Amino acid sequence: MSKSKSSESVKVVVRCRPMNEKERAAKFERVVSVDVKLGQIIVRNPREASASELPKVFTFDSVYDWNSKQIDLYDETFRPLVDSVLLGFNGTIFAYGQTGTGKTYTMEGVRNDPDRRGVIPNSFEHIFTNISRSQNQQYLVRASYLEIYQEEIKDLLSKDQSRRLELRERPDTGVYVKDLSSFVTKSVREIEHVMNVGNQNRSVGATNMNEHSSRSHAIFLITVECSELGLDGENHIRVGKLNLVDLAGSERQTKTGAQGERLKEATKINLSLSALGNVISALVDGRSSHIPYRDSKLTRLLQDSLGGNARTVMVANIGPASYNVEETLTTLRYSNRAK
Ligand code: ADP
Ligand code: MG
Repeated sequence: MSKSKSSESVKVVVRCRPMNEKERAAKFERVVSVDVKLGQIIVRNPREASASELPKVFTFDSVYDWNSKQIDLYDETFRPLVDSVLLGFNGTIFAYGQTGTGKTYTMEGVRNDPDRRGVIPNSFEHIFTNISRSQNQQYLVRASYLEIYQEEIKDLLSKDQSRRLELRERPDTGVYVKDLSSFVTKSVREIEHVMNVGNQNRSVGATNMNEHSSRSHAIFLITVECSELGLDGENHIRVGKLNLVDLAGSERQTKTGAQGERLKEATKINLSLSALGNVISALVDGRSSHIPYRDSKLTRLLQDSLGGNARTVMVANIGPASYNVEETLTTLRYSNRAK
């Protein structure tokens, strides 16, 4: 794959959230600046640290500051990818970052507030509007929702939430999750219902939702099948898959001196995120003949939606405040390598 081709197909953007109530009340210093025109994130050292150190500058495909609107991210960054899914290509959107930086805000947004809807509900609207305007095509939209926790796959739409699913591979269709449920949805309302059911199942098993979501990856999968009568008089079918991924928190899980089960869990989370980083940087680099998809469940599962003809957008989420500066720099370095 040539460098130019892969850099078209993988985009990395950074979004910095606003200071929250607590951070404003505590008068935390803002160390992040966003230069939208140049696509740069500039991180200063907090005042109390060595003031002599130069600010660090990172450049990305696009950057979004605390005033960014959900719909602007959608129109500029996500819409072209979803358009390609409607044409029969695969696509993946990731939200990456430390817990509390806005991954779920970017993916789902705020329910019942149309202005703060995230990419998942915006893509529902986009897909079904597109279908309602089509004339000569027949569409079939299916939705699945799964979670990867400790390298185990759970179907968030299944009645039996204790069951774990396996990855399988077939020469014709590639890697798939055996027995994963999928629902045909005919409208925005129907697919929203599917998402809500999955979200409920996700929180039911968890004693602490925030902790749980910081340790697991949630993947909402939309399959769009389009059939069209060709000039040759035959029916042609195109299938595009859209993977919408709210990743586990990227914070170093081992820093709190975890032991036993916790340590094992922490190691697995870090492993799948570093495997993803390795896959994306190998794709962007374009010179590697070996893409290490097999190193984690996440990358294996997404193999046919990362690289090749597929498009990928990684949104790296960061916070603006001084006390997060180390995690922020870690996220920017990870994403910069993925770029
Ligand atoms: P994560 O999923 O990464 O743990 P959340 O999406 O839950 O983080 O965001 C943490 C908090 O910050 C939430 O209350 C969310 O509404 C708020 N938030 C995050 N990003 C933004 C943003 N860009 N604009 C406004 N509020 C945001
Ligand atoms: Mg979250």
